[in-house]
Amino acid sequence: MNILVLSRDPHLYSTNRLVEAAEEHGHTVRVIDPLRCYMTIASQRPTIHYKGEELKDIDAIIPRIGASITFYGTAVVRQFEMMGVYSINESVAISRSRDKLRSLQLLARKGIGLPVTGFAHSTQYTNDLIDLAGGAPLVIKLLEGTQGIGVVLAETNKAAESVIEAFRGLKENILVQEFIKEAEGADLRCFVIGEKVVAAMKRQGKEGEFRSNLHRGGSSSVARLTPEERSTAVRAARIMGLNVAGVDLLRSNHGPVVMEVNSSPGLEGIEKATDKDVAGMIIEFIEKQGKPGRTQTRGRG
Ligand code: ADP
Repeated sequence: MNILVLSRDPHLYSTNRLVEAAEEHGHTVRVIDPLRCYMTIASQRPTIHYKGEELKDIDAIIPRIGASITFYGTAVVRQFEMMGVYSINESVAISRSRDKLRSLQLLARKGIGLPVTGFAHSTQYTNDLIDLAGGAPLVIKLLEGTQGIGVVLAETNKAAESVIEAFRGLKENILVQEFIKEAEGADLRCFVIGEKVVAAMKRQGKEGEFRSNLHRGGSSSVARLTPEERSTAVRAARIMGLNVAGVDLLRSNHGPVVMEVNSSPGLEGIEKATDKDVAGMIIEFIEKQGKPGRTQTRGRG
C-alpha cells in the first residue's frame, strides 16, 4: 500500500515507529507535514499538493494532528477523505475528540461512566457550581490545559472558590470535577485499535502528586484491565468514532470513569511500558480496513 503519515515532525518517536512498521510490512510510506499541504476545493476532482507535487495514488493516511494545528490539520484530512483516501481516524472524529466538553457530553449521553463534572465559562454562582459537582474535594481544570498544567486539586470548598475565581479572571472555560481519591494518583491509558484494547498501562504520579502525567514525574507499568474497563475503553473510542484512540480511565468506587479520549495517542510510553508493537498493529488494522472510500462518519456508538 501507499501510506502517508501526516505529522509535523518526522523525528518524533511515534512518527518514526509508524514509518518503520509500515516498511516492515512491505508498504511505501512517507511523512507529510499537513501545514505544508495546499489544496483545491472542487466537486469534480479535489486535489492535494505538497511542495510543488500533486499527491496521488495514496491508499491510506495516518493523521497525527497535534492539538495546536487541529483546524488546518483536520481540513487536510477531510480533503483526503473527499478524494476517497482511507484515513485511520476520520476528520470529524478528530475534531470531536479535541473538544473536551463535546466529548464528555457525547460519552454521557451513551451512559459511559464519567466523574461528576460541572462546566462554566463565567458564572458568578461559584458556590452553586461547586455544589453541582458534589462539593470539595474537587479537581478544577482549564479546558485548554495539557500535560496536567491547569489541573488543580481543591481540598475545601473555600479553596475551590478561590481557584474558580482566579480562573474566571483568565476568561477561560473551566471544568469542575469530582475528585476520584480512590484512584490514588494513578490512571489507566488504554490503547484502542478497532474493537480491541491492544495495550494498557498504568501511570502513577510521584509520591504526594494526584496527577499521573509522565511529564510531571509519573511512572508507568503494564496494566491488567478488568473486562468492564476494557469494554468502557472500546465503547468510548467507538462513540467518538475513532479507530485508534488513547482512552484515559480512572478507577473509581463507582467503576471505571473516562477522563479523556485522545485521537493521536503517543506510542513511546505505551510501547516501552508494555513491550508491544503497537505501531505494527496500527499498520495491520489499515491492511484489513483501508479500502478506498471506506471513510465514513461513525461515532453513533
Ligand atoms: P491533562 O489532559 O492536562 O493531562 P487531565 O485531565 O488528564 O489533564 O489530568 C491530569 C491528571 O490528573 C490525570 O492523569 C489524573 O491522574 C489526575 N486527575 C484528573 N482528573 C482527576 C479527577 N477527577 N480525580 C482524580 N484525579 C484526576
